[in-house]
Amino acid sequence: MKAKYWDESTRSYLPVKVPDGCTTYEVDKESMVTCPGCGRRVMYGNCFTSKRFYTSDGLWAFSVCPVCHGKECGR
Ligand SMILES: [Zn+2]
Repeated sequence: MKAKYWDESTRSYLPVKVPDGCTTYEVDKESMVTCPGCGRRVMYGNCFTSKRFYTSDGLWAFSVCPVCHGKECGR
C-alpha cells in the first residue's frame, strides 16, 4: 500500500510502499500486524507509533515494531 517516509536528512517526505498488513490503528491489541520498517509480523500491542512512516495523506503514522522504533529514535 502507498505510504510516505519522512527523510530526516532532507527534511522531506519520500513516497514509499509498505507491505499489506501494515496498520495505523487496531482495536484489538492482540492482532498481528506488519511492521513497515522491517516487514516482520508483530503484535499490535507491542508496536509504537512511527516517526517515519505515514499514510500517503500524511494524517496517520503507521505502527512499527520495538526494534524499528528504537532505530527511529537513533538507538
Ligand atoms: Zn520493524
